Amino acid sequence: MPTGSRAEVTVAGAGVFGAWIAWHLHHAGLRVALVDAYGPANSRASSGGESRILRMAYGAREHYTRWSVRSLQLWREFAALSGEEIFVPCGALWLHPPDDVFAAQTVKAFQAHGVRYEAMAPDVLAERFPQFAARGSHAVYEPHAGALLARRSVQALVRWLAANGVRYEQRRVNPRELDGETVVYACGPWLPRLFPELLGNRIVATRQEVLFFGVPPGSSSFGPQSMPCWVDVESQYYGIPDLESRGFKIAHDVRGVAIDPDTENRSVSREAVEKVRDYLAARFPALAGAPLVETRVCQYENTSNGDYLLDRHPDKERVWLAGGGSGHGFKHGPMAGKYMAGQIMGSMPVDARFGLAAKLDCSDGAASSSL
Ligand SMILES: Cc1cc2nc3c(=O)[nH]c(=O)nc-3n(C[C@H](O)[C@H](O)[C@H](O)COP(=O)(O)OP(=O)(O)OC[C@H]3O[C@@H](n4cnc5c(N)ncnc54)[C@H](O)[C@@H]3O)c2cc1C
Repeated sequence: MPTGSRAEVTVAGAGVFGAWIAWHLHHAGLRVALVDAYGPANSRASSGGESRILRMAYGAREHYTRWSVRSLQLWREFAALSGEEIFVPCGALWLHPPDDVFAAQTVKAFQAHGVRYEAMAPDVLAERFPQFAARGSHAVYEPHAGALLARRSVQALVRWLAANGVRYEQRRVNPRELDGETVVYACGPWLPRLFPELLGNRIVATRQEVLFFGVPPGSSSFGPQSMPCWVDVESQYYGIPDLESRGFKIAHDVRGVAIDPDTENRSVSREAVEKVRDYLAARFPALAGAPLVETRVCQYENTSNGDYLLDRHPDKERVWLAGGGSGHGFKHGPMAGKYMAGQIMGSMPVDARFGLAAKLDCSDGAASSSL
């Protein structure tokens, strides 16, 4: 697409990917329309949760470490521009067994890219963060990581775009109706439904349950000023401190069953609550028996290897596909948007990892973990 002339691009989907794609296209001088079937970061969307972890730890997948560092800068710039609180700099903690390969690779990547970290033995972990029962775990602590206020940040972005020349509309787009136009489909877990032949088996939306527990009265030890976001590599539980007094958030990073994002029942299962309670009692003894104060059911939109899909439609010159966040895409919205806008304008080299060709059939549940 020629970048000199003002061209119209429609971005379908105002989740974190679509909003940041619209942002970068708009800042490149293109005329942009952004549409969403249910509204920016709505309750069915993957971006519709309260909070998301922004961490730099990605093991050997250093590309994502770099994207985390750059994305955090862009999130911070937008927070300053909009005056919205978007990022809570509470840090992130990886709990891992001794001699863990992922932790060793992460530390190597941090050293290569100048990311600050602290490696903790179990006794140091217990002293620094007494909320955790160390239980022999080691930890890698990233002081510059933290939590993004997810729904709020996407809605603030779309508000900013709408106030600054991007046309926003609540509308459900049908690919057949927009034939011949330049359209980016940033439709998250809806992508397989919109392009069943192409993506039906390459992106699978799975049910993910999120629980919030009430913290002890009069205590701020589970708030972001006292403890970081955390990921427990062995158990695959992860969590976010008590942000905005909504409760201590915890979820399991194991893929649930395949779901339909339009019609899925968003009540959590009793089984999930019981399992989380057992885990809490062992890892966070002060939260044993804590009341469940809120729940959410969201979905991951998984690719076979957890790499995002940011590519042109193989048969349609002017159609672009953006999604496959795979349970870890929120933090990278700013860089995913920049990359996609660069592809559309022909100003950025292609990275094969984001190509359609790199996405295999994962309909049998072979989707990778987001860790
Ligand atoms: C429980 C949970 C925890 C997570 N934790 C983290 C984390 O800690 N850190 C992290 O970085 N990431 C995390 N993620 C992943 C991250 O939230 C997602 O990767 C990201 O939000 C995906 O954004 P998206 O824009 O691709 O999709 P969505 O946010 O789903 O946006 C797609 C949009 O498209 C719209 N749409 C669909 N069809 C149409 C149509 N036909 N016409 C118009 N609009 C349409 C929808 O209404 C929706 O708003 C988590 C995800 C979940 C579910």
